[in-house]
Amino acid sequence: VLYDRAKIELQAGAGGNGSVSFRREAHVPKGGPDGGDGGRGGDVILVCDDSLRDLHQLKRRPHRRAERGGNGEGALRHGADGKDLIVKVPPGTEAVGEDGDLLGRRYDLVRAGQRAVVARGGSGGRGNKHFATPTRQAPRFGERGLPGEQGGLSLQLKLLADVGLVGLPNAGKSSLLSRLTRAAPKIGSYPFTTLEPVLGVLDDGERQLVIADIPGLIEGASEGAGLGHDFLGHVERCRLLVHVLDLAPELFGAADGADADGADPNGSADDAAAADPDVNVHAAAGADVHDDGADTDAAMLANYATIEHELAAYDPRLARLPRVLALSKADLVDPERAERALGIWRDRLGESVPVCVTSSATRAGLPQLGMLLFASAQVDESASSLHARDGGELRTDAGSEALAEHIVYRPGGDDGFMVYQLGSGSFAVAGRGIERLVARYDPENEEAMAHLEGRLRRIGVIAALEAEGFQAGDELEIAGVVFELDPDMPG
Ligand code: GDP
Ligand code: MG
Repeated sequence: VLYDRAKIELQAGAGGNGSVSFRREAHVPKGGPDGGDGGRGGDVILVCDDSLRDLHQLKRRPHRRAERGGNGEGALRHGADGKDLIVKVPPGTEAVGEDGDLLGRRYDLVRAGQRAVVARGGSGGRGNKHFATPTRQAPRFGERGLPGEQGGLSLQLKLLADVGLVGLPNAGKSSLLSRLTRAAPKIGSYPFTTLEPVLGVLDDGERQLVIADIPGLIEGASEGAGLGHDFLGHVERCRLLVHVLDLAPELFGAADGADADGADPNGSADDAAAADPDVNVHAAAGADVHDDGADTDAAMLANYATIEHELAAYDPRLARLPRVLALSKADLVDPERAERALGIWRDRLGESVPVCVTSSATRAGLPQLGMLLFASAQVDESASSLHARDGGELRTDAGSEALAEHIVYRPGGDDGFMVYQLGSGSFAVAGRGIERLVARYDPENEEAMAHLEGRLRRIGVIAALEAEGFQAGDELEIAGVVFELDPDMPG
């Protein structure tokens, strides 16, 4: 069973508290403040690891937390930073923040070694040493550490193929894949039991291409019929599609009945072609075809249009991918007819779509197809999803830009706050930065509160409150903490 989805709850470590401490020396009755800072809380970091195949480890342990930072201590001892928590995910994992601090963040982990800090640890609080001033030589407060970010993250594993094979059932996709590629145990062992795309690796000695056989593309797939929709999601990262088109559809039509119309050699090509005027077929069906090949060509055209129509309906971005047309099963037709079909399809599709004739039975045309794929996918070593490297940026060739988007939403800034009146003599301030500042100080500690008030003044919060009618003695609430400001404080 493939665990291609998981939801986990993450909690980054809280920062440690700053220490309140005073030097003790034999000859000094009361030394200066020497409270050390708290350590940072650990981050939760996703790391892409290509020894993993699916998400079952995450399913087993859905709650993960990083270590909190140690508290500061006397003699200016800094608290230890909390250890980061590494959560390993397989290549092809898409992570989306569902709630809490993680809401709306999104990460794509494609290559081994890529890292994403998904929940940041809280910063440590500063010790009382930092709050010593000429007028306050013995501060009896320090900062508290901030909580770490937390929230739910949902993960989905997407198949990572560079090249997708599309075509009607029985077009010869599976055969082509198995002949074209060598076994790739690591990748081939994806236990896709339900989705069953099969992956193979095409290797020219230097570069590698991951090719996926995509058997689920049948009429109606784009409307979510059967496995189609879910399934096609796994090819969203492809940079190139090979459309496999049977040269001998009357001999190996859609025997399983999945698409009787499209594969019926006696069916009308006009139906399918007319059903989708956007399909990139220029010439009229049957043009320039020898009498005894006209039906075959019409059937091929209809089959071609069916698949192209499905692609466009499923995802226009997918449909815009560069295409290679493989005319398959050449051994089943005489060479002349294969040649003629090659000419017809080259004319139809123009220069932008390379066309080749292949046979999985005789291996004819397979080396040429392989070369075409490397040329068309324009892969280099760093771009191949098999070549695990560092966590650099995703490839940016034109093909991948369209589909392999790497979106990371960053949370909004911490600046800015809003002041509003709750009732008479009662005000509130909201704003992430302000709330974090308030969380730093112990509300029970008067000295800390006086210090906080000074900070609020300097930031302009008090002025903003006064502009709203706030007066000394009024109540002020920030992040659940209620203050009474000291009217004697300098403005
Ligand atoms: P898929 O449904 O597109 O994956 O098609 P398959 O690869 O499973 O092939 C469908 C049928 O066509 C099978 O019976 C294959 O043996 C046959 N077939 C595929 N490729 C060739 C070929 O190049 N020559 C011949 N003679 N038969 C082929
Ligand atoms: Mg197949």
